[in-house]
Amino acid sequence: MKRLWKKEIWRLAALTALGGLLAWPFSATAIGIAIALGLQLAYQLRQLHVLDQWLANHPQEEPPAASGLWGELFDRLYRYQKSQRITQRRLRDTLSRIQESSEAMRDSVVMLDRHGDMEWWNSAAERMLGLKPAHDRGQHITNLLRDPRFVDYFQARDYSDPLTLTSPIDDQMILQFQITLYGDDERLLMARDITRLHRLEQMRRDFVANVSHELRTPLTVLSGYLETYSDMADQLPGRMSRGIEQMRGQTTRMQNLVNDLLLLSRLEIDQGGQDDTPLELGSMMDSIRRDAEALSNGQQHFEVIHDERRRLIGSDKEIHSALSNLVFNAVRYAGEGRHITLRWKRHGQGACLEVSDDGEGIDPHHIPRLTERFYRVDKGRSTATGGTGLGLAIVKHVLLRHQARLEIDSYPGAGATFRCVFPRDRLSAPETQARPALTSE
Ligand code: ADP
Repeated sequence: MKRLWKKEIWRLAALTALGGLLAWPFSATAIGIAIALGLQLAYQLRQLHVLDQWLANHPQEEPPAASGLWGELFDRLYRYQKSQRITQRRLRDTLSRIQESSEAMRDSVVMLDRHGDMEWWNSAAERMLGLKPAHDRGQHITNLLRDPRFVDYFQARDYSDPLTLTSPIDDQMILQFQITLYGDDERLLMARDITRLHRLEQMRRDFVANVSHELRTPLTVLSGYLETYSDMADQLPGRMSRGIEQMRGQTTRMQNLVNDLLLLSRLEIDQGGQDDTPLELGSMMDSIRRDAEALSNGQQHFEVIHDERRRLIGSDKEIHSALSNLVFNAVRYAGEGRHITLRWKRHGQGACLEVSDDGEGIDPHHIPRLTERFYRVDKGRSTATGGTGLGLAIVKHVLLRHQARLEIDSYPGAGATFRCVFPRDRLSAPETQARPALTSE
């Protein structure tokens, strides 16, 4: 290209000089130079016109024939256009493949622009969400999915968990929505039909609840008779009364298990929130401490600290059940001579109910699984101490219903701390009269 530029400049200079030389015998050198420059300008303008015509009318055809700098320029433009066309075709192919595969998907896919307006969707979205291509394109998603829970989910911009709702066009269809943020604040909304899974889950819950309920009556009868027989232990042969004692122990265990299973089912099935009131946590903690002292048989030391003035709004029965599970666990697993502390205290903007002990602690690799049903660190020990394996699962469900979370800090030999962290929305305003921090031991 550099060579061509040089040649072009030399040609211009030579033609200009020739114009001057030819006009020199007539004493009109300047006119000769002007005519030579004019001719060259006319040539350049003609080539520009040819370029313009080519680009305007047949850009994909072969470029016009030209030599020198113009020829090279035409060739370059032609090559550039050709590569652009190939890239465009590839992109088009990729896009249509993506659209075809999204089209074939059984899940709904809706592409939203940065304002939340719908740009494109597949046919599953038409089937599940009732979107109509002619009518809904460019509409805001919340004009179509008006459920306040979806609107809150969409606006909160925290899409780490999916949202489960019924379809806007069929209330028998259960959909799970998940949003992904990408590009320039655009969003991809996916909806999956989980009706079958939801029904199975419902059946599982109903089955567990029904079985537990049906087991209650026979167990009550059994334990009633066993109690009567154990009252008559002195009239029975030694081997028999030992057997009756063991049967009594196992029946009590089964009753505890059935009660815990029923409680868990109720926590899962009920919507919650009906019996939420500001709680008297001070007296609740004191009464649980008294029960725990009885269970501990004077083997452990207890302390109750109440240093948050705001009150927790929730279900008295459920919070009592969660807190007593944590405290009784501490009694059973911390070991003799240990200190157990119950505390209601500030935690960030919210507050937390904390149960800590200075006992044997838990190996960190067990911690993520502790709230699973029937997960035990040491099965033998849990059974021996009367554990059902459902205590922490109950705590987790109670907290979920109170928009709270369970934090567990523990290390072998360093004790264990179970923290129920409640958000600010779950607290009532502090009492107007200042109340001194309460501590009892
Ligand atoms: P379980 O009925 O077996 O007590 P939980 O769900 O209440 O069932 O507890 C699960 C497991 O967590 C227990 O088996 C126990 O190993 C462990 N754990 C709970 N609390 C404590 C604690 N304070 N210290 C040590 N281990 C604990």
